[in-house]
Amino acid sequence: MATRTPATPPPHADASRHYDRVMAIAEQYPDLPLEAVFKEDLLRLGVRFTDAALELTARSKPKAYFIFSFDMAPLSDLPERQSLHAPEEIALVGGPHSLRRTIVSVRLNPSSPYSVDATDDALQLHLGSVAICDVKLAPNPAYYQSELAGGKVMREVAPTIEWGYLIYLTLFRLCQYFGAEEECKFCDINENFRQQRRAGRPYNQVKALDDVLAALEIIDANEREQPEANDDDLLLPLKRTAAYTITGGSIVSELQGQSEIDFYCRYVEAIEERFPRRWISKMVVQAHEQDSLQRLRDAGVQIYHPNYEVWDARLFSILCPGKQRAIGHESWVRRILGAAELMGPENVIPNFVAGVEMARPYGFERVEEALRSTGEGLDFFMSRGVAPRFTTWCPEPLSQLGRAGEAAPLEYHVGLLRLWRDTHRRHRLPVPRGYGDPGPGQAVFSVSGFMDVLEPLCG
Ligand code: SF4
Repeated sequence: MATRTPATPPPHADASRHYDRVMAIAEQYPDLPLEAVFKEDLLRLGVRFTDAALELTARSKPKAYFIFSFDMAPLSDLPERQSLHAPEEIALVGGPHSLRRTIVSVRLNPSSPYSVDATDDALQLHLGSVAICDVKLAPNPAYYQSELAGGKVMREVAPTIEWGYLIYLTLFRLCQYFGAEEECKFCDINENFRQQRRAGRPYNQVKALDDVLAALEIIDANEREQPEANDDDLLLPLKRTAAYTITGGSIVSELQGQSEIDFYCRYVEAIEERFPRRWISKMVVQAHEQDSLQRLRDAGVQIYHPNYEVWDARLFSILCPGKQRAIGHESWVRRILGAAELMGPENVIPNFVAGVEMARPYGFERVEEALRSTGEGLDFFMSRGVAPRFTTWCPEPLSQLGRAGEAAPLEYHVGLLRLWRDTHRRHRLPVPRGYGDPGPGQAVFSVSGFMDVLEPLCG
Protein backbone atom coordinates (compact mmCIF):
# COMPACT_ATOMS: atom_id res chain seq x y z
CA MET A 1 0.00 0.00 0.00
CA ALA A 2 1.21 3.53 -0.79
CA THR A 3 2.59 5.52 2.11
CA ARG A 4 1.12 8.82 3.18
CA THR A 5 2.98 12.08 3.43
CA PRO A 6 4.00 13.21 6.93
CA ALA A 7 3.05 16.69 8.09
CA THR A 8 6.47 17.38 9.60
CA PRO A 9 9.22 19.01 7.52
CA PRO A 10 11.30 16.37 5.79
CA PRO A 11 15.04 16.50 6.32
CA HIS A 12 17.00 17.11 3.12
CA ALA A 13 17.83 13.43 2.65
CA ASP A 14 14.16 12.46 2.97
CA ALA A 15 13.21 15.09 0.42
CA SER A 16 15.79 13.70 -1.97
CA ARG A 17 14.40 10.20 -1.40
CA HIS A 18 11.02 11.64 -2.22
CA TYR A 19 12.47 12.65 -5.59
CA ASP A 20 13.41 9.01 -6.22
CA ARG A 21 9.87 8.01 -5.37
CA VAL A 22 8.33 10.58 -7.71
CA MET A 23 10.55 9.36 -10.53
CA ALA A 24 9.71 5.72 -9.77
CA ILE A 25 5.99 6.55 -9.97
CA ALA A 26 6.52 8.51 -13.19
CA GLU A 27 8.25 5.46 -14.69
CA GLN A 28 5.12 3.42 -14.05
CA TYR A 29 3.15 5.96 -16.11
CA PRO A 30 5.27 6.53 -19.21
CA ASP A 31 2.12 7.56 -21.09
CA LEU A 32 1.68 10.61 -18.82
CA PRO A 33 3.77 13.76 -19.13
CA LEU A 34 6.38 14.00 -16.37
CA GLU A 35 5.34 17.63 -16.04
CA ALA A 36 1.87 16.56 -14.85
CA VAL A 37 3.37 14.21 -12.24
CA PHE A 38 5.44 17.02 -10.70
CA LYS A 39 2.44 19.34 -10.93
CA GLU A 40 0.20 16.99 -8.97
CA ASP A 41 2.90 16.45 -6.36
CA LEU A 42 3.40 20.20 -5.96
CA LEU A 43 -0.33 20.75 -5.63
CA ARG A 44 -0.79 18.10 -2.97
CA LEU A 45 2.35 19.03 -0.96
CA GLY A 46 2.68 22.76 -1.55
CA VAL A 47 5.91 24.70 -1.96
CA ARG A 48 8.07 27.14 -0.01
CA PHE A 49 10.13 30.08 -1.20
CA THR A 50 13.52 31.10 0.12
CA ASP A 51 14.08 34.74 1.06
CA ALA A 52 16.22 35.18 -2.04
CA ALA A 53 13.39 33.84 -4.18
CA LEU A 54 10.89 36.16 -2.54
CA GLU A 55 13.04 39.13 -3.56
CA LEU A 56 12.32 38.15 -7.15
CA THR A 57 8.73 36.97 -6.79
CA ALA A 58 7.83 40.38 -5.34
CA ARG A 59 7.71 41.69 -8.91
CA SER A 60 5.15 39.10 -10.06
CA LYS A 61 1.39 38.87 -9.73
CA PRO A 62 0.85 37.96 -6.05
CA LYS A 63 -1.38 35.28 -4.59
CA ALA A 64 -4.85 36.81 -4.39
CA TYR A 65 -6.49 34.28 -2.05
CA PHE A 66 -9.26 34.23 -4.61
CA ILE A 67 -11.65 31.96 -2.67
CA PHE A 68 -10.07 29.42 -0.28
CA SER A 69 -6.65 29.75 1.32
CA PHE A 70 -5.12 26.93 -0.75
CA ASP A 71 -2.25 27.08 1.75
CA MET A 72 -0.99 24.32 4.00
CA ALA A 73 -0.33 26.69 6.88
CA PRO A 74 -2.47 29.50 8.29
CA LEU A 75 -1.35 33.05 7.51
CA SER A 76 -0.37 33.49 11.15
CA ASP A 77 2.25 30.72 10.75
CA LEU A 78 3.70 32.08 7.54
CA PRO A 79 6.41 34.73 7.46
CA GLU A 80 4.72 37.88 6.20
CA ARG A 81 6.96 38.02 3.15
CA GLN A 82 5.76 34.57 2.07
CA SER A 83 2.10 35.46 2.14
CA LEU A 84 2.56 38.92 0.61
CA HIS A 85 5.10 38.15 -2.09
CA ALA A 86 4.34 34.57 -3.05
CA PRO A 87 3.14 34.43 -6.64
CA GLU A 88 -0.33 33.24 -7.61
CA GLU A 89 1.20 30.66 -9.92
CA ILE A 90 4.57 29.50 -11.12
CA ALA A 91 5.55 28.11 -14.51
CA LEU A 92 7.90 25.14 -14.50
CA VAL A 93 10.27 25.10 -17.47
CA GLY A 94 13.44 23.36 -18.64
CA GLY A 95 15.88 21.88 -16.16
CA PRO A 96 17.48 18.43 -16.40
CA HIS A 97 14.17 16.91 -17.55
CA SER A 98 13.56 19.62 -20.18
CA LEU A 99 10.09 20.25 -18.79
CA ARG A 100 7.62 21.94 -21.08
CA ARG A 101 6.02 25.07 -19.64
CA THR A 102 3.68 23.89 -16.89
CA ILE A 103 1.57 26.24 -14.80
CA VAL A 104 1.03 25.37 -11.16
CA SER A 105 -1.04 27.15 -8.53
CA VAL A 106 1.04 28.13 -5.48
CA ARG A 107 0.07 26.50 -2.20
CA LEU A 108 2.34 27.69 0.53
CA ASN A 109 3.76 25.07 2.85
CA PRO A 110 6.79 25.87 5.01
CA SER A 111 7.30 22.11 5.47
CA SER A 112 7.15 21.16 1.81
CA PRO A 113 10.01 19.15 0.33
CA TYR A 114 9.71 21.47 -2.69
CA SER A 115 11.40 24.84 -2.55
CA VAL A 116 11.93 27.70 -4.96
CA ASP A 117 15.31 29.36 -4.66
CA ALA A 118 17.13 32.10 -6.56
CA THR A 119 20.52 32.30 -8.14
CA ASP A 120 21.53 35.51 -9.87
CA ASP A 121 18.31 36.76 -11.42
CA ALA A 122 16.69 33.38 -11.99
CA LEU A 123 14.54 30.97 -10.02
CA GLN A 124 14.83 27.22 -9.69
CA LEU A 125 12.59 24.55 -8.22
CA HIS A 126 14.27 22.00 -5.97
CA LEU A 127 13.07 18.80 -4.42
CA GLY A 128 15.37 18.40 -1.46
CA SER A 129 18.82 18.91 -2.94
CA VAL A 130 17.76 17.87 -6.44
CA ALA A 131 17.24 20.63 -9.01
CA ILE A 132 14.01 19.99 -10.89
CA CYS A 133 13.61 22.90 -13.32
CA ASP A 134 13.61 26.65 -13.81
CA VAL A 135 10.68 28.73 -12.60
CA LYS A 136 9.09 31.64 -14.43
CA LEU A 137 6.56 34.11 -13.08
CA ALA A 138 3.51 36.00 -14.29
CA PRO A 139 3.93 39.77 -14.60
CA ASN A 140 1.95 42.10 -12.39
CA PRO A 141 0.58 44.64 -14.88
CA ALA A 142 0.22 48.23 -13.71
CA TYR A 143 -3.54 48.20 -14.28
CA TYR A 144 -3.97 45.46 -11.66
CA GLN A 145 -3.17 48.14 -9.09
CA SER A 146 -5.78 50.59 -10.45
CA GLU A 147 -8.04 52.06 -7.83
CA LEU A 148 -11.79 51.86 -8.38
CA ALA A 149 -14.18 54.69 -7.55
CA GLY A 150 -14.96 53.32 -4.09
CA GLY A 151 -11.28 52.95 -3.22
CA LYS A 152 -10.91 49.21 -3.85
CA VAL A 153 -8.01 47.90 -5.86
CA MET A 154 -8.92 46.29 -9.17
CA ARG A 155 -7.14 42.99 -8.55
CA GLU A 156 -8.95 42.46 -5.26
CA VAL A 157 -12.26 42.65 -7.07
CA ALA A 158 -11.40 40.76 -10.23
CA PRO A 159 -8.19 38.75 -9.82
CA THR A 160 -7.13 36.53 -12.67
CA ILE A 161 -5.76 33.02 -12.44
CA GLU A 162 -4.65 30.43 -15.01
CA TRP A 163 -1.92 32.82 -16.15
CA GLY A 164 -4.46 35.55 -16.82
CA TYR A 165 -6.91 33.38 -18.78
CA LEU A 166 -9.69 33.30 -16.16
CA ILE A 167 -11.20 36.21 -14.22
CA TYR A 168 -12.23 34.81 -10.86
CA LEU A 169 -15.19 36.59 -9.31
CA THR A 170 -15.85 35.32 -5.80
CA LEU A 171 -18.87 37.49 -5.08
CA PHE A 172 -19.78 36.13 -1.67
CA ARG A 173 -16.76 35.21 0.41
CA LEU A 174 -18.61 33.21 3.05
CA CYS A 175 -20.70 30.07 2.86
CA GLN A 176 -24.04 29.70 4.59
CA TYR A 177 -23.17 26.10 5.40
CA PHE A 178 -21.63 27.25 8.63
CA GLY A 179 -19.81 25.32 11.35
CA ALA A 180 -18.72 21.73 11.82
CA GLU A 181 -22.17 20.25 11.26
CA GLU A 182 -22.67 21.99 7.92
CA GLU A 183 -19.44 23.03 6.21
CA CYS A 184 -17.78 20.69 3.76
CA LYS A 185 -14.98 19.11 5.74
CA PHE A 186 -12.27 19.88 3.17
CA CYS A 187 -13.28 23.53 2.74
CA ASP A 188 -11.82 26.56 4.54
CA ILE A 189 -13.83 29.35 2.89
CA ASN A 190 -15.27 30.67 6.16
CA GLU A 191 -12.06 30.28 8.15
CA ASN A 192 -10.04 31.85 5.36
CA PHE A 193 -12.36 34.85 5.39
CA ARG A 194 -11.74 35.26 9.11
CA GLN A 195 -7.96 34.94 8.83
CA GLN A 196 -7.81 37.45 5.97
CA ARG A 197 -9.79 39.93 8.06
CA ARG A 198 -7.62 39.29 11.11
CA ALA A 199 -4.56 39.98 8.97
CA GLY A 200 -6.09 43.36 8.10
CA ARG A 201 -6.51 42.59 4.43
CA PRO A 202 -9.27 44.16 2.35
CA TYR A 203 -11.52 41.13 2.18
CA ASN A 204 -15.21 41.98 1.98
CA GLN A 205 -18.12 39.58 2.33
CA VAL A 206 -19.89 40.69 -0.82
CA LYS A 207 -18.45 42.35 -3.92
CA ALA A 208 -20.49 45.29 -5.15
CA LEU A 209 -21.83 44.97 -8.67
CA ASP A 210 -20.52 48.42 -9.63
CA ASP A 211 -17.02 47.45 -8.51
CA VAL A 212 -17.14 44.26 -10.53
CA LEU A 213 -18.23 46.10 -13.67
CA ALA A 214 -15.59 48.79 -13.14
CA ALA A 215 -12.86 46.19 -12.71
CA LEU A 216 -13.95 44.41 -15.89
CA GLU A 217 -13.91 47.76 -17.73
CA ILE A 218 -10.27 48.10 -16.76
CA ILE A 219 -9.39 44.62 -17.99
CA ASP A 220 -11.28 45.13 -21.22
CA ALA A 221 -9.79 48.55 -21.90
CA ASN A 222 -6.25 47.37 -21.21
CA GLU A 223 -6.59 44.34 -23.41
CA ARG A 224 -7.59 46.59 -26.30
CA GLU A 225 -4.22 48.28 -26.04
CA GLN A 226 -0.81 46.90 -26.91
CA PRO A 227 0.45 44.63 -24.13
CA GLU A 228 3.09 46.12 -21.88
CA ALA A 229 6.57 45.38 -23.21
CA ASN A 230 8.34 42.59 -21.34
CA ASP A 231 12.11 42.63 -21.28
CA ASP A 232 12.30 40.68 -18.02
CA ASP A 233 13.53 37.16 -18.65
CA LEU A 234 11.97 35.96 -15.39
CA LEU A 235 8.45 36.79 -16.57
CA LEU A 236 6.25 34.98 -19.09
CA PRO A 237 3.55 37.24 -20.59
CA LEU A 238 0.01 36.84 -19.32
CA LYS A 239 -2.66 35.24 -21.46
CA ARG A 240 -5.52 37.38 -22.64
CA THR A 241 -8.60 36.89 -20.46
CA ALA A 242 -11.08 34.56 -22.14
CA ALA A 243 -13.49 33.49 -19.40
CA TYR A 244 -14.90 34.56 -16.08
CA THR A 245 -16.21 32.48 -13.21
CA ILE A 246 -19.01 33.71 -10.98
CA THR A 247 -18.78 31.94 -7.67
CA GLY A 248 -18.84 32.20 -3.89
CA GLY A 249 -20.19 30.33 -0.92
CA SER A 250 -23.52 28.54 -1.04
CA ILE A 251 -26.60 30.59 -0.21
CA VAL A 252 -28.92 28.29 1.65
CA SER A 253 -31.57 30.77 2.71
CA GLU A 254 -31.19 34.28 1.33
CA LEU A 255 -28.49 36.87 0.90
CA GLN A 256 -29.51 40.52 0.64
CA GLY A 257 -33.06 39.24 0.31
CA GLN A 258 -32.22 37.08 -2.69
CA SER A 259 -32.01 33.37 -3.36
CA GLU A 260 -28.74 31.80 -4.51
CA ILE A 261 -29.82 31.86 -8.15
CA ASP A 262 -31.13 35.44 -7.98
CA PHE A 263 -28.06 36.73 -6.16
CA TYR A 264 -25.49 35.30 -8.57
CA CYS A 265 -27.56 35.77 -11.75
CA ARG A 266 -27.80 39.51 -11.12
CA TYR A 267 -24.05 39.83 -11.78
CA VAL A 268 -24.10 37.72 -14.94
CA GLU A 269 -27.01 39.71 -16.34
CA ALA A 270 -25.20 42.98 -15.74
CA ILE A 271 -21.89 41.73 -17.13
CA GLU A 272 -23.52 40.27 -20.22
CA GLU A 273 -25.51 43.43 -20.80
CA ARG A 274 -22.38 45.58 -20.61
CA PHE A 275 -20.00 43.12 -22.38
CA PRO A 276 -22.15 40.74 -24.43
CA ARG A 277 -20.29 37.41 -24.96
CA ARG A 278 -16.94 39.17 -24.39
CA TRP A 279 -15.89 36.23 -22.20
CA ILE A 280 -17.03 32.65 -21.70
CA SER A 281 -19.33 32.94 -18.69
CA LYS A 282 -19.11 30.23 -16.05
CA MET A 283 -20.95 29.83 -12.79
CA VAL A 284 -20.35 27.67 -9.74
CA VAL A 285 -23.51 27.23 -7.68
CA GLN A 286 -25.22 24.26 -6.12
CA ALA A 287 -27.16 21.63 -8.06
CA HIS A 288 -30.55 23.15 -8.89
CA GLU A 289 -33.71 21.95 -10.57
CA GLN A 290 -34.31 22.80 -14.22
CA ASP A 291 -36.66 25.75 -13.60
CA SER A 292 -33.94 27.55 -11.63
CA LEU A 293 -31.36 26.62 -14.22
CA GLN A 294 -33.48 28.13 -16.95
CA ARG A 295 -33.12 31.44 -15.11
CA LEU A 296 -29.37 30.95 -14.99
CA ARG A 297 -29.29 30.20 -18.69
CA ASP A 298 -31.45 33.21 -19.52
CA ALA A 299 -29.05 35.38 -17.54
CA GLY A 300 -26.26 34.37 -19.92
CA VAL A 301 -24.39 31.58 -18.14
CA GLN A 302 -22.67 29.36 -20.70
CA ILE A 303 -20.92 26.84 -18.46
CA TYR A 304 -22.44 25.50 -15.23
CA HIS A 305 -20.39 23.87 -12.46
CA PRO A 306 -22.63 21.98 -9.99
CA ASN A 307 -19.72 20.54 -8.01
CA TYR A 308 -20.36 17.12 -6.53
CA GLU A 309 -17.01 17.14 -4.62
CA VAL A 310 -16.77 13.35 -4.12
CA TRP A 311 -18.55 10.53 -5.94
CA ASP A 312 -19.01 7.98 -3.16
CA ALA A 313 -22.42 8.54 -1.54
CA ARG A 314 -21.23 7.64 1.97
CA LEU A 315 -18.28 10.01 1.74
CA PHE A 316 -20.49 12.75 0.28
CA SER A 317 -22.83 12.52 3.26
CA ILE A 318 -19.92 12.72 5.70
CA LEU A 319 -17.74 15.27 3.93
CA CYS A 320 -20.52 17.54 2.70
CA PRO A 321 -23.04 17.41 5.56
CA GLY A 322 -24.77 20.67 4.66
CA LYS A 323 -25.27 19.70 1.04
CA GLN A 324 -26.42 16.25 2.11
CA ARG A 325 -29.01 17.73 4.45
CA ALA A 326 -30.28 20.36 2.04
CA ILE A 327 -30.15 18.40 -1.23
CA GLY A 328 -28.66 14.94 -0.79
CA HIS A 329 -26.31 12.93 -2.98
CA GLU A 330 -28.98 11.26 -5.08
CA SER A 331 -30.76 14.52 -5.88
CA TRP A 332 -27.46 16.21 -6.56
CA VAL A 333 -26.58 13.64 -9.21
CA ARG A 334 -30.09 13.72 -10.69
CA ARG A 335 -29.93 17.51 -10.94
CA ILE A 336 -26.60 17.36 -12.76
CA LEU A 337 -28.23 15.15 -15.38
CA GLY A 338 -31.21 17.51 -15.52
CA ALA A 339 -28.82 20.38 -16.15
CA ALA A 340 -27.14 18.44 -18.95
CA GLU A 341 -30.54 17.91 -20.57
CA LEU A 342 -31.32 21.62 -20.38
CA MET A 343 -27.96 23.18 -21.19
CA GLY A 344 -26.26 20.46 -23.23
CA PRO A 345 -23.96 17.97 -21.49
CA GLU A 346 -20.77 19.67 -22.74
CA ASN A 347 -21.83 22.84 -20.88
CA VAL A 348 -22.18 21.13 -17.51
CA ILE A 349 -18.80 20.56 -15.86
CA PRO A 350 -19.09 19.51 -12.20
CA ASN A 351 -15.94 19.60 -10.12
CA PHE A 352 -14.75 17.10 -7.56
CA VAL A 353 -11.95 17.52 -5.03
CA ALA A 354 -9.41 14.87 -5.93
CA GLY A 355 -7.78 13.34 -2.89
CA VAL A 356 -10.52 13.72 -0.29
CA GLU A 357 -11.57 10.17 -1.22
CA MET A 358 -8.53 9.05 0.77
CA ALA A 359 -8.53 11.64 3.55
CA ARG A 360 -8.38 10.31 7.09
CA PRO A 361 -10.37 9.27 8.98
CA TYR A 362 -13.25 8.65 6.58
CA GLY A 363 -11.67 7.94 3.21
CA PHE A 364 -10.66 4.79 1.39
CA GLU A 365 -7.58 3.09 2.75
CA ARG A 366 -6.24 1.82 -0.53
CA VAL A 367 -5.44 3.72 -3.73
CA GLU A 368 -7.16 1.04 -5.83
CA GLU A 369 -10.43 1.41 -3.91
CA ALA A 370 -10.38 5.20 -4.24
CA LEU A 371 -9.67 5.03 -7.96
CA ARG A 372 -12.40 2.45 -8.46
CA SER A 373 -14.95 4.68 -6.76
CA THR A 374 -13.89 7.89 -8.51
CA GLY A 375 -13.69 6.03 -11.81
CA GLU A 376 -17.25 4.79 -11.38
CA GLY A 377 -18.40 8.41 -11.07
CA LEU A 378 -16.37 9.49 -14.10
CA ASP A 379 -17.82 6.68 -16.18
CA PHE A 380 -21.34 7.44 -14.99
CA PHE A 381 -21.13 11.07 -16.06
CA MET A 382 -18.91 10.78 -19.11
CA SER A 383 -21.08 8.02 -20.61
CA ARG A 384 -23.82 10.66 -20.54
CA GLY A 385 -21.65 13.33 -22.15
CA VAL A 386 -20.86 15.23 -18.94
CA ALA A 387 -17.11 15.62 -18.27
CA PRO A 388 -16.38 16.30 -14.60
CA ARG A 389 -13.08 17.96 -13.81
CA PHE A 390 -11.14 18.08 -10.58
CA THR A 391 -9.18 20.28 -8.25
CA THR A 392 -6.27 18.55 -6.53
CA TRP A 393 -6.86 18.59 -2.79
CA CYS A 394 -4.25 19.92 -0.41
CA PRO A 395 -4.95 19.66 3.31
CA GLU A 396 -5.64 23.22 4.39
CA PRO A 397 -5.24 23.31 8.17
CA LEU A 398 -8.14 25.73 8.51
CA SER A 399 -10.49 23.03 7.23
CA GLN A 400 -11.69 20.09 9.30
CA LEU A 401 -10.01 17.45 7.14
CA GLY A 402 -6.88 19.48 6.64
CA ARG A 403 -6.01 19.54 10.31
CA ALA A 404 -4.76 15.95 10.01
CA GLY A 405 -2.28 17.35 7.48
CA GLU A 406 -2.10 14.23 5.35
CA ALA A 407 -2.33 14.53 1.59
CA ALA A 408 -3.54 11.60 -0.50
CA PRO A 409 -0.68 9.55 -1.96
CA LEU A 410 0.86 10.69 -5.22
CA GLU A 411 -0.02 7.26 -6.64
CA TYR A 412 -3.68 8.20 -6.32
CA HIS A 413 -3.29 11.52 -8.08
CA VAL A 414 -1.21 10.12 -10.93
CA GLY A 415 -3.54 7.14 -11.28
CA LEU A 416 -6.45 9.57 -11.46
CA LEU A 417 -4.82 11.54 -14.29
CA ARG A 418 -4.63 8.40 -16.37
CA LEU A 419 -8.12 7.28 -15.37
CA TRP A 420 -9.63 10.67 -16.22
CA ARG A 421 -7.84 10.89 -19.55
CA ASP A 422 -8.71 7.31 -20.57
CA THR A 423 -12.38 7.64 -19.58
CA HIS A 424 -12.61 10.95 -21.43
CA ARG A 425 -10.97 9.36 -24.47
CA ARG A 426 -13.15 6.22 -24.35
CA HIS A 427 -16.32 8.30 -24.43
CA ARG A 428 -14.90 10.51 -27.20
CA LEU A 429 -15.70 13.73 -25.40
CA PRO A 430 -14.55 17.16 -26.56
CA VAL A 431 -11.94 19.22 -24.71
CA PRO A 432 -13.83 20.91 -21.85
CA ARG A 433 -14.66 24.49 -22.81
CA GLY A 434 -13.48 27.42 -20.75
CA TYR A 435 -10.11 26.03 -19.66
CA GLY A 436 -7.86 27.27 -22.45
CA ASP A 437 -5.66 25.05 -24.55
CA PRO A 438 -5.04 21.41 -23.65
CA GLY A 439 -1.81 19.46 -23.59
CA PRO A 440 1.63 19.59 -22.04
CA GLY A 441 3.31 22.93 -22.58
CA GLN A 442 -0.05 24.48 -23.51
CA ALA A 443 -2.44 24.05 -20.56
CA VAL A 444 -3.11 26.97 -18.22
CA PHE A 445 -5.49 25.33 -15.73
CA SER A 446 -3.40 25.47 -12.59
CA VAL A 447 -5.15 23.58 -9.77
CA SER A 448 -4.94 20.10 -11.27
CA GLY A 449 -3.27 18.42 -14.19
CA PHE A 450 -6.35 17.24 -16.09
CA MET A 451 -5.79 19.65 -19.00
CA ASP A 452 -2.08 18.79 -19.11
CA VAL A 453 -2.76 15.15 -19.98
CA LEU A 454 -5.01 15.81 -22.97
CA GLU A 455 -3.69 15.80 -26.51
CA PRO A 456 -2.61 19.27 -27.66
CA LEU A 457 -4.68 20.82 -30.43
CA CYS A 458 -3.19 20.57 -33.89
CA GLY A 459 -2.15 23.55 -35.95
S1 SF4 B 1 -20.68 24.38 -0.16
FE1 SF4 B 1 -18.99 23.36 0.82
S2 SF4 B 1 -17.24 23.59 -0.62
FE2 SF4 B 1 -18.81 25.09 -1.20
S3 SF4 B 1 -18.19 26.94 -0.12
FE3 SF4 B 1 -19.70 25.90 1.18
S4 SF4 B 1 -18.51 24.68 2.60
FE4 SF4 B 1 -17.15 25.27 0.88
